[in-house]
Amino acid sequence: MEKSLTFAMIKPDAFKNDYTSEILFEILKAGFKLRAIKITLLTLEKAEQFYSEHRGKEFFERLTCFMSSGPVMALILEKPDAVNEFRKLIGKTDPAEAQEGTIRKKYGTTTSQNAVHGSDSVEHAEREWGFFFSRREIH
Ligand code: ATP
Ligand code: MG
Repeated sequence: MEKSLTFAMIKPDAFKNDYTSEILFEILKAGFKLRAIKITLLTLEKAEQFYSEHRGKEFFERLTCFMSSGPVMALILEKPDAVNEFRKLIGKTDPAEAQEGTIRKKYGTTTSQNAVHGSDSVEHAEREWGFFFSRREIH
């Protein structure tokens, strides 16, 4: 893939708190282009696969139950250095520690319910958007 892409997901807490469209608007204002978008639900099994790197950790069940508790918005985003730029835009995992102005600072509530996911590498981004999109759905 020659373009710089990342995978992002707006999490169920953002839907519950009605922040979904505000968060999407912030992402677009920050200069990311939408290459694919979908609102869907993760089954518990899919959430466990998606977060398989965290299997066995103390928060795994909390995380996967939460991620399958309501809708998510899956996004493929394009921008130069997309993976790192998006991680900067969302801030640290724990909203209390995230920098002022970041999406998790503004819209997240707890370490689990932190409003948004962003892939941490290009390899992981490709693996992660594979859970949600077929080739034809990415333009
Ligand atoms: P994400 O992968 O969702 O973008 P991240 O890369 O900042 O977040 P990871 O370490 O990959 O953080 O953890 C994945 C997700 O697991 C976090 O976003 C958070 O929702 C949850 N999580 C991580 N650590 C904890 C924890 N100590 N307690 C509760 N939930 C946690
Ligand atoms: Mg992560």
